Amino acid sequence: MSGVPEAEASAEQNRQEPGSAAPTTGARSAPGTRRAPHTQHGIRQRNLSLVLHTVAAEGPLSRADVAGRIGLTRAAVSTLVDELTRAGLLVELGRGRPGTVGRPGSALAIGDRGPAGLGAEIGVDHLAVCAVDLRGRVRVRVEEPVAGRDSEPGPVLARLAELVRTVAAEAEREGLRPGGLAVAVPGLVARGSATVVRAPNLGWRGVDTGPALEVALPGVPVTVGNEANFGALAELRLGESTASRRDFVHVSAEIGIGAAVVVDGALMQGAQGFAGELGHVPVHPEGPTCPCGGRGCLEQYAGEEAVLRAAGLRGGEGVGELRERAGAGEAAVLRALDDAGTALGIALAGVVNLLDPQAVVLGGALAELSPWLLPATERELTIRVTRPYGEIAVSRVGRDGPLLGAAHSVVQAVLDDPLGRAGSRGGGSG
Ligand SMILES: [Zn+2]
Repeated sequence: MSGVPEAEASAEQNRQEPGSAAPTTGARSAPGTRRAPHTQHGIRQRNLSLVLHTVAAEGPLSRADVAGRIGLTRAAVSTLVDELTRAGLLVELGRGRPGTVGRPGSALAIGDRGPAGLGAEIGVDHLAVCAVDLRGRVRVRVEEPVAGRDSEPGPVLARLAELVRTVAAEAEREGLRPGGLAVAVPGLVARGSATVVRAPNLGWRGVDTGPALEVALPGVPVTVGNEANFGALAELRLGESTASRRDFVHVSAEIGIGAAVVVDGALMQGAQGFAGELGHVPVHPEGPTCPCGGRGCLEQYAGEEAVLRAAGLRGGEGVGELRERAGAGEAAVLRALDDAGTALGIALAGVVNLLDPQAVVLGGALAELSPWLLPATERELTIRVTRPYGEIAVSRVGRDGPLLGAAHSVVQAVLDDPLGRAGSRGGGSG
């Protein structure tokens, strides 16, 4: 994790972190929404955030260490630390720890108790909820299968709300209180709302998830966002070389294919919040029809189900089976993966030519199949991108990316505004 707080790097008011687009309650700004730094309150909030970010990233640290890193006087830092300690966000580990240079001081750390980010994921075949503490550790996690395809939203959302309550109760037994809930969905979410405009694989259209999710934990702020955006956030926080990789395109595939464009560490959401629909970029204009209404979309060639079909496997057999058979050298499977990699390369050539990213990062099922996809993808890129291009990397975050990214978006919101509603004591109980 980068030691440089996001807050410092992005003073522009209108930039947002991935996944921060969709607050469903008006009670607080979305995670990553930038405050007004020039007011007295704004400066204090920024400094509290700097201290907390620094300790979260590098702690335990002495007050002097923190002061040195963020460029404030030790006295100023002490005042801020006292506030954060009183609020239960920082703890003191005792005086005179070995290795402290100069006058011994107590070391500051993020406590085991305090606010936590709750993340949830609605998948086509599973529901998952987790609680992540301010140090980024997953403290509670539950998952269960769900028949999400062409489902009624009501029962799915009600079950998710139950799982959220279960995780919150378990977290509370460990001394954690929810600082917010962020929910990743496999579909388009209108910017600044909790409305799933379209989730083709769930069969949902125009579903306002707010009412069902807000009752899960009354008073706790809820945000809803696209799974690919949260996946990109997980990559930004947890992925390889997080400090240096600030401009990238994160591509993830499960049943559908989504992408998120990260520019200088912030998500490019698009005017309505719908940017990144790579799965519906046409690869062959006269190709097979797609549920979106178009023809020859990337998803029809490189989506999980399309690849299984092309390989002659049934829908239920999944990526594990593909991997196994590809590893055994089965010709039909290798051909299907090569075709998928080719389609991906054609679509990504447009992306790379347009955006010139540092990297294209493959996540989800694509990451698991990368050994067989990438040769064809890189072949197409080499032909179609007529200049040097950034690396094609494989995410190590894995399939939990959207879930972890959602939870981390809440953690980020607390670190950005420690004594705001999400971070303060009692903020979770309304
Ligand atoms: Zn389509």
